[in-house]
Parts: sequence; C-alpha cells; structure tokens
Amino acid sequence: MARGTITPARAVFDGADGPSPAQEPGAVHQARADALPRARHVFVGGNGLPGRWQGRERFVVLETGFGLGSNFLVTWDAWRQDPVRCGRLVFVSVEKHPPRPEDLARAHAAGPLAALAGQLLERWPPLTPGLHTLSFDGGRVTLLLGLGDARPMLRELVLQADAFYLDGCVPAADGAPWDAYLLKSLARHAAPGATVSTWSAARSVRDELASAGFEVLQVPGLAGMPEMTTARFAPRHRPQRPAGREPLAPRALRAVILGAGLAGAACALALSREGLACTVVDALPGPAQASSGNPAGLFHGTVNPDDGPHARFNRAAALATQRLLAELGLPHQHGLLRLETRLALERMQGTAGYVETLSAAQASALAGTPLGHPAWFYPGGGAVDPAAYTRAMLDASAAELRLATPVAALREEAGAWALLDAAGGVVDRAALVVLAGGHGQLPLLGGLEGSVDSLVVQRGQLSHLPDATWCPGVPVAGDGYVIADGRGGVWCGATTQDGDLDPALRVADHTDNLTRYARLAGLSQVPQAPLAGRVGWRLIAPDRLPLIGGLAAPGPRAEQLRLQPRRPGLVICTAFASRGIGWAALAGRLVAALAVGSPRPLEAELLDAVDPLRFALRRQRRPGA
Ligand SMILES: Cc1cc2nc3c(=O)[nH]c(=O)nc-3n(C[C@H](O)[C@H](O)[C@H](O)COP(=O)(O)OP(=O)(O)OC[C@H]3O[C@@H](n4cnc5c(N)ncnc54)[C@H](O)[C@@H]3O)c2cc1C
Repeated sequence: MARGTITPARAVFDGADGPSPAQEPGAVHQARADALPRARHVFVGGNGLPGRWQGRERFVVLETGFGLGSNFLVTWDAWRQDPVRCGRLVFVSVEKHPPRPEDLARAHAAGPLAALAGQLLERWPPLTPGLHTLSFDGGRVTLLLGLGDARPMLRELVLQADAFYLDGCVPAADGAPWDAYLLKSLARHAAPGATVSTWSAARSVRDELASAGFEVLQVPGLAGMPEMTTARFAPRHRPQRPAGREPLAPRALRAVILGAGLAGAACALALSREGLACTVVDALPGPAQASSGNPAGLFHGTVNPDDGPHARFNRAAALATQRLLAELGLPHQHGLLRLETRLALERMQGTAGYVETLSAAQASALAGTPLGHPAWFYPGGGAVDPAAYTRAMLDASAAELRLATPVAALREEAGAWALLDAAGGVVDRAALVVLAGGHGQLPLLGGLEGSVDSLVVQRGQLSHLPDATWCPGVPVAGDGYVIADGRGGVWCGATTQDGDLDPALRVADHTDNLTRYARLAGLSQVPQAPLAGRVGWRLIAPDRLPLIGGLAAPGPRAEQLRLQPRRPGLVICTAFASRGIGWAALAGRLVAALAVGSPRPLEAELLDAVDPLRFALRRQRRPGA
C-alpha cells in the first residue's frame, strides 16, 4: 500500500499566515502555544494516563495525526517521569503529512521538551511511505511512525492499542473530522478496555464511536474548548482476532535462539529489548563463523517504480539497519553507489535522504573512477564487517552464548520446545525457540511442514585484491561489487553457484570476481592476485524474500495466512539470501513483535510477503502450479 511520495506539511508558527483555503486539510500543522498542556489534558489525561499504564509490561498508544509531535513528546515525558511506569511504551502514529525536521526543531526549541525533541530529530527518518521504527531510552520507548494516508495505513497496522489519541483530521464527506470507516477501524485495533480521547465533541464522532463498540463520555475540555470526548471499548461481543496474528509466545520470559549469525544475533537483541532473557546456541566455536563471517558486505535499499513488496521491505530493512548501526556505534562505511544500467538519468526518481540519483559524472567523482553509468546513491547504505555487526548485536543483547553446541533435533513439549543433541539429550528448552540457523539448520526443519520447501543453498566466493589500482571512495555495486578494505586493497565479489557445497576457494571464481572488478574499474587487464578470499552459502527462497514468522499448527489449513493457526512458541527467521546484513535488524524486530505481540514493525501485506507459510498457501490455492 505504501506507493507514492510523502509530502511534508507546512508548519505555521505564532498564528502567522494561516492556512490557505486551497491547502489540503492536514497539510498544515499549526504550532500552538498551548500544544503541550493541551496534549496533557486531552490525550494523556483523557486516556487515564499515567495510571492506566502503571504495573503493565507494555502499553500501546495509537494516534491519528502526528502533527508537530507534541502528543508523543508529552506522553514520552510522562512515561519518563513516572516511577511506576510500564516496562515498554509503544507509540504508534499515523501521519499523511509529516513535519519537516526544521519545523519540528523550531516548534520545540524553546519549550520544556526541547531535549526529547532533540532526540526525536536525531532519529527523524527520510520521508518515505510506510512504517518507520524509532527507538528511545534503550529500546524501552518505541515510536512507530506510519507515513501515509490514515485509512489504508490503519488497515495495514497489526497491533492492539490500549489508548487511542484521535488527533489531526481526516475529514469525511459530511465534514466530520473523521469518517465512519476510520472510527470503526479503531475497534479492530482495540485491546480489551482500550480508551479513546479526542478534542472533538462532534456528535458524529460520538455516534460512530458508540456504534463501533465504545462507551462514550462527554468531558470538560481545556480553555477555549468547553467539551471533548473520551470513550472506553466495551463491545457487546469481543471481536475474534485472526489466529495467524496471535502472539506466538506472549508469556515467555526466556528465549533460546538457534544460530549465532546475523539472524540469531538480531533476534537476541530485539527479544532482550522486549525483556526476555536470551540464550544463543551455535554448533561453531564462535559467533558469525558461518555465512555471517565474511570480512565485509553491503547493505542498502532498492528502488522499484511500482514500490512493490521487495522495494518496501528492502527500504524498511535498510533504514532499520542504518538506525541500529548508529545506535550500536559500530564503525562502517557510509554511503553506497548502485549503478543503473537500464534507466536513463531523467527516468530515475529518488527520495531525499533515502536514495539520490547521480549522473555518470557525479557517480564517477564519488567512486574515484569513470563508471559510465548513472547511479543510485544510498546515503544511509554502506558496507560493514558482518562479523563485527553480529558481535555488537550479541553484546548489546547480553545474551548467554552456548557455543560448540550442535543441535540435532527439536521436540515439542508441554508449553515449551526442547533442543536435543545427537544422543537425544536436552541441550536447552524454553517457551520460545527461534530458528535462526541459516542453511545449517535445514536438517532440523524437515518435520516442520511448509517451512523449507523450495529453499536453495547457494555457494558464493569473495576475492581479496591486496594492492588495488582502484579503491572506491564509497562501496560500489553493479555487476559485482567492490568494497575498499581500508589498507589499499579491495574485497570484490561475489560468485553464485546453486546447490554447490564445495568449501574450497577456486581460482576460476577469483578470476570471475576480478574480471567484474576490472570492468567496474575500467581496467583493460584483469589484475593478477594471490589466492585469497572466503567461501560462504546463501539460503534463498524462490521469491528472494526472507522467511520470518510462525510455522503451521497441525490441522486443516486456512485459506489466508492471517487466519492460519501457528505452533505456539516457535518462530523461524531465515533465508536471508544475499541481504543478511541489510535485513537482520528489521527481521529481529519482527521476530520479537510476533513473539510477544507488540505492534508489528511492518504492514500486514509485508508480514504476508515474508511469512514462512506463503509457499504452502500458494500451492494449496493452485495445486500443481
Ligand atoms: C559470498 C557471499 C557474499 C555475501 N555478501 C553479502 C552482502 O554484501 N550483503 C549482505 O547483506 N549479505 C551478504 N551475504 C549474505 C549474508 O552473508 C547472509 O545472508 C547472512 O550471513 C545469513 O545469516 P544467518 O544468520 O541467517 O546465517 P549464518 O551466518 O549461516 O548463521 C547460522 C548459524 O547457525 C548455526 N547453526 C545452524 N544449524 C545449527 C544446528 N543444527 N546446531 C547448532 N548451530 C547451528 C551455524 O553454525 C551458524 O553459525 C553474502 C553471502 C555470501 C555467501
């Protein structure tokens, strides 16, 4: 659903130059002098906060209309001030016209929440459509910012909200501030006992809330607003949640994660941020010694004119990687050039802050060699040492590591999963087990129907050229890729051989990699180099998206992924193909959200796009296809 571009709002300060009548509603944010007290009264107080979150593990707020962020900042501040606050605050806000960073800065610069606003600004995302996850206070506060039109965005959110802030305005045809569809959709997202508050006292709003199952109250507003509305979700019949969207391990306090590669480390980090104690089990003697042990690798988004699931998933993942690397303070190369060999520059369309278009001359200047093609430049992309990234995530997770511990089988037990060694002894057991063992875990998955069919194991070899004629100023990807090693050499790669399990470095593969290097560098001769490099394997699904989610519970198959019951306590997170660096951060977050039931960091359509049962469902719909 995230097609199109996001137009930032215009902010109006001090009541000056009010909105022009021609302006789309919501495209102008009024910086009000009373914004903070109003937010405290209408939204925080109106929803019974901070009292309602006290003693809870997690509290979820869903807001329509982020505006200049006052409601978020006031809520975050109230959470910080409260000694008996909930463990985690998740604030989800849907905004069609987000503010420009300079307006955000100006709106809060002189106010009491300037320091919090500063943190928000540091993490402010490029204005691309879809969900953006911003973390604060060590991951205990999350802002999930949904950029796009409220109606489709609300349809795509997967969450249960404890409080709704009905702000902004998405006018209905009859002039009401929100239409009936939008108000009804609140009920679909309401946790038991959820509350609503809004500045509006409109009759239509109250009637629609009542017909959506809310008990509505008329309460005093602030000065200049004699009345406002609050409501509590009290439906006559409790709505049935789709079985496939139920949390997989809502009560687990501990998780065992199979695999100490990028996937396992990212899951450990995200789960530990949700408060779970994590143990990571790996057959090898150290972390990141299988596919994630390459010396360097790229991460970046992708661009696709129709902004389909791949482009949207890759974009969300790349932005999540960029944010996590910054949070971890991990040194890496910033910026990445991807050559465009099919489109002319005039037909390429970038998005400020996410991907820029460069002419061949501009790209060549950045790369330090004539490239002969225009390029996409990803300022937030780059290159990183994947093993260092894996270790940094594991360190930040404080997970217990159980290395040199091969797992031979899985066994379902009452309320838990046990990992068994080759002799049938229990290696570990937990209410939540995450299968993040890359291609090495395939023998374990045979019995878990629908999870691993059609996956391909692909060999890949990287080559190292110690004294390179050309060391690019930023990593360059085209037909092959080149990453400077910081010592006058480059890593270039990589080969692709399906089903080939040969671990030995091959001269022919080096020649392949160096030939592509020479072509990118514009060299007439392929450099001769000593035999140095690394071999690894990629695990690839047919549609080249990862497998992240729950596996099918025994029993009849549902016709939609969202309705398919899952095996409790088991999540798979694998098939990272050639994008493990760029996907890990988002994948880990998603695993944690699926396990504990916190708001999913991806839209429903993308949850289905990475669901491990998608191939089984497609086959069921088209037998023989
Ligand atoms: C040549 C090459 C170049 C690449 N370049 C890039 C790049 O530029 N950018 C990018 O993003 N990605 C790149 N990739 C892909 C990336 O390396 C992978 O997607 C990523 O490493 C996969 O991580 P993982 O954690 O899923 O798997 P792994 O790193 O393989 O980790 C899985 C771990 O699980 C353990 N394990 C498995 N089964 C068991 C068991 N039964 N018992 C105990 N332990 C078990 C393994 O020992 C292993 O440590 C490249 C891959 C190759 C091969």
